[in-house]
Amino acid sequence: MDDVETLCSRLIRVDTTNYGGGESAGEREAAELAATVLSAAGIESKILERASRRSNVIARVSGTDATLPPLLVQGHLDVVPADADQWSRDPFSGEITDGYVWGRGATDMKDFVAMVLTVLGTWAREDRRPRRDIVLALVADEEDTGAYGAEWLVNEHPGLFDGCGATISESGGYSYHVTNATGRPVRLYPIGTAERGTSHLRLTATGRAGHGSRRNDDNAVVKLISALDRIAHYQWPIRLTPTVTAFLQRTGAALGIDVDLNDVDGTLQRLGKAAPLVENTVRNSTRPTVLRAGYKVNVIPSTAVAEVDTRTLPGTEQELLATIDSLLGPGITREFVHRLPAIQAPVDSPWFDAMATAIRSQDPDAVVVPYCMGGGTDAKAFARLGIPGYGFAPLSLPEGFDYRAMAHGVDERVPISGLHFGTRVLDHFLSHA
Ligand SMILES: [Zn+2]
Repeated sequence: MDDVETLCSRLIRVDTTNYGGGESAGEREAAELAATVLSAAGIESKILERASRRSNVIARVSGTDATLPPLLVQGHLDVVPADADQWSRDPFSGEITDGYVWGRGATDMKDFVAMVLTVLGTWAREDRRPRRDIVLALVADEEDTGAYGAEWLVNEHPGLFDGCGATISESGGYSYHVTNATGRPVRLYPIGTAERGTSHLRLTATGRAGHGSRRNDDNAVVKLISALDRIAHYQWPIRLTPTVTAFLQRTGAALGIDVDLNDVDGTLQRLGKAAPLVENTVRNSTRPTVLRAGYKVNVIPSTAVAEVDTRTLPGTEQELLATIDSLLGPGITREFVHRLPAIQAPVDSPWFDAMATAIRSQDPDAVVVPYCMGGGTDAKAFARLGIPGYGFAPLSLPEGFDYRAMAHGVDERVPISGLHFGTRVLDHFLSHA
């Protein structure tokens, strides 16, 4: 059995780049590596593929109490592309130097996969079992649509997840260094209890085509950019959801900072270094990202198209769409490019408490708070089966390490000490949950 950093490195060395739109290096070798490690721990697994090489690994570890709902532990095996020219090391070398494991997937999320497999290996060696059954799903295609991974499994093999009481996966449980009101250092550990939804929009403006030299009061390009300008500059109202309210109150209390829910912008300023954890999730957002129109400078085209990255807090999509419609103006239609509803798990739950206890078992001074993810993960797919999702992939990180720049970034790497910490936290949580 490898140590966790070696296993993480081996997983990184398997290129599982997901280029999107069904283009992929494939997850099969990574899935086979995981299956081999599971088998060495005495755990049978199966590999399911919707298409050749797009592999998902499913396994079940039986617990000591069959009356408890199983816990779903899911992580993705694919990674986003890496432009080697921009990196200071080969993104697929899995190099272990200076206390870090380097490479694409080091924090998103081959680290978590390695930590979970390491815990299961330890249990086998020490003849230990969890309290409840654990369903393990290491999936393909999270970095695109999940059509070969979580979405497909949920649609075609929902029985695999029957009765699961909750799921844990990426984006939470890591240490985040802030200072309190008196300047003392505090380690926050945000656990994901909600995700904003995705309501990506395509706007199509239709007008009258004509010669670029002539007056035209029905120019599709002009209509579109005016509408985009209104949407881009619209100040979306503050909408506090249970997770965000709990984050503000609990973080404020831990840091000795005054929290005023009627003045969220002022509160964010006072939160200082903790603000980036919440500032994207106090309101919805609409950010234009794609523009397409025209083919020749002296021709006014009859249509112009834009796409808007639109993110919605739980329970706010209808309100957002009504506002967008009022901002669009005549001659512009909208449709969804991609639409996944926001999700929200109970903040105050035995699951959350068990995660917080597990973190504090390794860092007694930890301040564990719920937070809402600004984007999304596969938890949304499993939420359709009624399984609440928690972002819990614990790591301890050195101060100054820009963890949030790692995922999808250049020089992605994970500290070895962080992996060891996370493995101990996961062992505690998975054993006792
Ligand atoms: Zn990820």
